[in-house]
Amino acid sequence: MSEFALIERIKRHAVARDDVLLGIGDDAALLAVPAGMCLAVSVDTLIAGRHFPLATSAVDVGYKSLAVNLSDLAAMGAEPAWATLSLSLPSFDSTWLDQFCAGFSELAREFNVALVGGDTVRGPLSITVGIQGFVDPKRALLRSRAQVGDLLWVSGTLGDAALGLKALKAKAGDQHLSLLQRLNRPTPRVAAGLFLRDFSVAAIDVSDGLLADLTHLARRSQVGARVYLNQLPTSAFARSYVGLDDYQLRLHQLSGGDDYELLFTSHRSSRAEIEAGFVDLGLQVTVIGEITADPTVEVLDADGRRFIPALRGFDHFA
Ligand code: ADP
Ligand code: MG
Repeated sequence: MSEFALIERIKRHAVARDDVLLGIGDDAALLAVPAGMCLAVSVDTLIAGRHFPLATSAVDVGYKSLAVNLSDLAAMGAEPAWATLSLSLPSFDSTWLDQFCAGFSELAREFNVALVGGDTVRGPLSITVGIQGFVDPKRALLRSRAQVGDLLWVSGTLGDAALGLKALKAKAGDQHLSLLQRLNRPTPRVAAGLFLRDFSVAAIDVSDGLLADLTHLARRSQVGARVYLNQLPTSAFARSYVGLDDYQLRLHQLSGGDDYELLFTSHRSSRAEIEAGFVDLGLQVTVIGEITADPTVEVLDADGRRFIPALRGFDHFA
């Protein structure tokens, strides 16, 4: 397939939006930003073998490459609008491309994201998606907004994606399809992010691991945090992982990446309202700790002792 044919094929999948004045096909896209809003802009690269296992299907790679970007917008409280796609492909294989586009456009349709441009090159398999969305700058969820005494919350459950990867590596994937699904097809918490704009919250999405991402949030806010180990939300799938002791489970929950849940803070007085909002969203939400003045991130076990995990998170350059 030629580069031109490939771009035409990608274009066929693109969602249409009225604010795309000029999409794929020219030197740049022309896009209309609503009055009073600012653009939330983010970009993420997925490299085969590093950010997803080499055996991941093209559909899942397409899905995940957009999902991780939507998750960044969710963590800003932004409404997704447009995306760009830069593909580095070992060969211009139409079967792979169609499947990739099917996964990508499944999410693009769900969140009404128009693909407005990109780039296509031959090289090792890697996918870079850029995303743009709208947010009122006064209501954006910033990492820097945490205050001493705030509650610390997380959406959904933790550790599932890391356990999915563990199952895959142990070639026990078939017994753990739900965990694998969490690894390959994370659900971006966009609606939750939009809901949280009504509260003055600090937020970050859990991509590198709870402790790593909590540390980013705490640093930006110049605060510390305390996490209660026995409050970390655990899925039934994680709980029933055969041969996993409690220590191993907690390690995966604290340090495993790829959950793409929202980690956020709120004033204590907002607790009931936030809980009610998440009931309406149909999404689990849990208070897992609090924000402290001491600028460290600590984890306490059920007996109130400090829990020191062996691994803190996933650092691509470590
Ligand atoms: P240029 O030479 O100006 O970079 P290209 O030939 O790379 O243009 O791309 C032609 C058009 O196709 C541009 O509008 C570009 O944004 C779009 N495009 C290229 N690759 C992709 C892709 N992988 N996904 C979406 N749009 C793409
Ligand atoms: Mg180009």
